[in-house]
Order: sequence, then C-alpha cells, then structure tokens
Amino acid sequence: MTEDTPSFILTASQELQLLSDQEVGSMLHLFAEQTEDQYNYSAIDNTLVDDSSHSKIFIEKFEPESGVPFPSPELPIAPAQPSIIINEDYPGPYDFEISLKPQAGNNTWVYSEKLNKIYTLISQSIPIDFKWKAPMESMYVRATPLYSALQYAQTMVKRCLLHCSPLEPSNLNIPNGLYDHVLRCQDSNAYYYGSVEANTFLNVIVPLGQPQVGTEFVRVMYSFVCNNSCPSGMNRKALEVVFTLEDQDGKVFGRKKVHVRVCSCPKRDKEKEEKDYVKHSLKGKKFVRSEKKQYSSNSSLDTKKYDLNVNICGKENQKFGVRMIHQMITIQSLENSSNAELKLNKEYLRAYLKSLD
Ligand SMILES: [Zn+2]
Repeated sequence: MTEDTPSFILTASQELQLLSDQEVGSMLHLFAEQTEDQYNYSAIDNTLVDDSSHSKIFIEKFEPESGVPFPSPELPIAPAQPSIIINEDYPGPYDFEISLKPQAGNNTWVYSEKLNKIYTLISQSIPIDFKWKAPMESMYVRATPLYSALQYAQTMVKRCLLHCSPLEPSNLNIPNGLYDHVLRCQDSNAYYYGSVEANTFLNVIVPLGQPQVGTEFVRVMYSFVCNNSCPSGMNRKALEVVFTLEDQDGKVFGRKKVHVRVCSCPKRDKEKEEKDYVKHSLKGKKFVRSEKKQYSSNSSLDTKKYDLNVNICGKENQKFGVRMIHQMITIQSLENSSNAELKLNKEYLRAYLKSLD
C-alpha cells in the first residue's frame, strides 16, 4: 500500500487526535505493515482517484468480486457542501417523494410510518423508491447521513474505528476511501463524496435515470455499515438520512429525510419506540426522538469486568487487537471523565500494550 495508507488512518478517526503522537505513529506503522503484508490492495489503489479536495471517489477499472457497491467512471456532479445541511422536507417543483415497502415477515429491516424511521440490522440491503414528476434523464439523488439533534448538525457521521479497519470483512476488496462511509449504495453508478480529512459531509449520489416501464419510481438499494451504538462512531446519537433530488450541477429540486436506527433487533426497537411515541402523545408531551437521551445515560454505562482470553495468530495481530480496545476505552474514558473504572482500565491496557513491544 502506498501513500493512501496514512491518509486513511488519519481520516478514519479524528479520535486518534485524542491519543499521543507516539500512539498515532505506531498505529500508522501497524496499519501500513498489516495492509501491505496481508492484503493486496494495490490493484484497488491504482483505480482510486481523489480530486484535489479529496471529496470524490472515482473508480476506473476495478471490478468488484463481492457484489459490494462501487462508483462508476461516469461524469460526477459538483457536490453541495454547506457547513450545515438543511433537513426540512421540500417536495419542490417535481413533487419529490420517497417510499419504503418492507416485506411482511422480513425482520432484517422494518419501517415505521408513524415515526418515519427505518430500523435495520447492519449491512442489510434496503430498497428505497424515488418518485418525482416529469422525470428527466439527468436527475440524481444524493443521500447524506446526518445526526438528528441540532447540537450535532455540524458533526460528520462517520464509521467507528473498528468498522473502519482494513481487517473488517465489509472493507475487503473495496477502495479504502469508502471505509469511513456509514451509508453505502448498491448501485453500480454510485459516487461517493466527502472526506473526513477535509471535514466535508460524507454522502453518496446516484443518477436516477428513468422509471422502468409500468412504474412511476426508481428503486435504489442502500445499506448501513455501522451500528448506532458503535462507541467510537455514532455512539448512540440519533441518525437520519437526507435525500436530495439534484440536477447535474448539484442544484437541489427536492428534499426528503428519514430517521434511521441501525441495531441488533429492528422489530423490537420499532415496537418499543412506537409505543413510547403513543405514550408521550397521550400525555400531550413532545416526543423527543433522541437515542442519545434514551440509551446513553450513565446508568447504562457498563463498567463490569469481562474476561477476554483468546489465542491470536501473529504478534502484530495481537497488538492490533489490544490497541483497538485501548482506543475504544480511551474514548469512553474521555466521554465519562469522572469514571475511575474506565480510567484504570485505560491505564492497564496502555501498560499491557507497551509490554507487548
Ligand atoms: Zn461501527
């Protein structure tokens, strides 16, 4: 792997800034060694072209082997990159609409009409139908994941450290520029925009073409590749995706948002949140759809000690595993600075990591 490796590490986690230079340096070294030794990404790197602002990922020759989505070499359009992305629904002049039709009995993802919210397992394909009047050939739909709470309006939604790792199965055989993206699109003509390094929102854009004969919509498949609960990623913050109908120059003609929860029990969580919604409605109180509020109180912080005794092939792999856990505990410790258990655990892991050198 060439110069792309260090840039990935830094872009994959701004949390690394919280750690010492020495830790970051050794992390870079570790990733560089592992990816070069164990994974042949050279074919992919040769086809990955960033523009000058690192905002566009653009593949020319790479043929996916695993059916994972990739951008095509077609003409990209200028990305709209305001510092705050508006999430108000706007049907616009073409009555832009989206719809979701989950299949009965399929519990891998469900949709709540009441809450306008998708509940899905990680990495599940979700079909979203886009409808707009007077369909023209040159319209596009951009999907931008955002945090719902206003205080996080400028915070980029990006994947956690663990899911950004080159060792993560969902990252095999894909360009490393896609590792940070929480939202993937299965359309072979999708383009990925944005960069953690440049602090521009990550999003994916697809040319819509025209509805097939006998239909009024165009269907696009998406999947989410991080859980809402991932500690060094979304960290339980409420998530939404804003879909914008755009022309070739990035001019917006319509906007629709949908709330999203990526979790391990979509059906159960949907039922629970719908029940809570009805309860709050009956009480006449405003229902606050804040997962941070629901799931991250100090009472839910798990500081019980669990044993981890596993045999791992390879010294570097062992160090990598310990380093990842150390980073996650470091971040949790910073977020819960008064917690002595986490602080002790962080120091223990740091010492243990040193002993492995
Ligand atoms: Zn994750």
